[in-house]
Amino acid sequence: MSQNEELRAPLASGMPMLGLGTWQNKEPAQCTESVQTALEMGYRHVDTAQAYGNEEAVGRGIANADVDREDLFLATKVWKDNLAHDDVLETGRASVERLDVDALDLLYVHWPSGEYDATGTLTALQELHDEGLVERIGVSNFEPRHLDEAQEVLDVPVFANQVECHPLLPQQKLREYTDEHDIELVGYSPLARGEVFGVPEIQDVADKHDASEAQVSLAWLREKGVTAIPKATGEEHIRDNWESLGVELDDEDVEKIDGISRRERQVDPSFGPWN
Ligand code: NAP
Repeated sequence: MSQNEELRAPLASGMPMLGLGTWQNKEPAQCTESVQTALEMGYRHVDTAQAYGNEEAVGRGIANADVDREDLFLATKVWKDNLAHDDVLETGRASVERLDVDALDLLYVHWPSGEYDATGTLTALQELHDEGLVERIGVSNFEPRHLDEAQEVLDVPVFANQVECHPLLPQQKLREYTDEHDIELVGYSPLARGEVFGVPEIQDVADKHDASEAQVSLAWLREKGVTAIPKATGEEHIRDNWESLGVELDDEDVEKIDGISRRERQVDPSFGPWN
């Protein structure tokens, strides 16, 4: 058995802690191939969104891969323009159709912006959940105040908050909040969209473990209990990230990365709730 086949992503409340991101993997045939390659390598978590314009291509990758649907964790997100109650119902059902599955493992509110209204939006998500189309309800880019409100509105738990998280944006306060409230933190842009590669502390730890900087960043997130969804297109990056599961950081490595003072947010649209 190759090292690759032995690797398994640990689970956080049933969700594999390493998944494949697909933002900007837009060319349909390429996106389908990336998803199929990842699933056949061992990935069991795929992250997409209505706004990525690739749900059909992701669905084809899932259909092509030799992996049972029940073994896969599939998440998508409702775009900010579709967050009025009836639009959540309509576009949520359309996402399920485009992905060509019976149900989603996780449906996120993409941003607490645009048409977001806690009661209208979340009761619609709850209806999709009660119909059996959505296994879990998640949110993304939520701050503690939005999480407080969401938990008041929903009769089911908020399963996850997906936010930017990597060694240059460790999100300590949000991690403390989600730990306390039993909400999973899913880290997007876990490689800081490439910015972690030039950081000396990460390079040092990578050299020590004969690993790549990408692998060190992903192993650090795992140490913090954060689920990571790196986007990768070709087999080489998909494999490099998968093999991060074989990289074990020690306390000294984690401390060194925790000590990085550079702070940077990569995804910062004007409608971000922190702006
Ligand atoms: P990322 O995963 O931090 O970085 C992706 C970039 O790194 C791509 O250019 C990729 O190139 C490259 N890369 C990947 N693996 C590599 C490796 N092992 N070595 C060298 N380069 C590597 O950034 P992201 O796409 O922003 O974030 C990941 C996922 O999070 C997204 O795809 C999306 O699913 C999700 N996301 C969610 C939100 C939200 O608002 N909820 C926002 C942003 C992202 P190639 O593509 O050429 O492999």
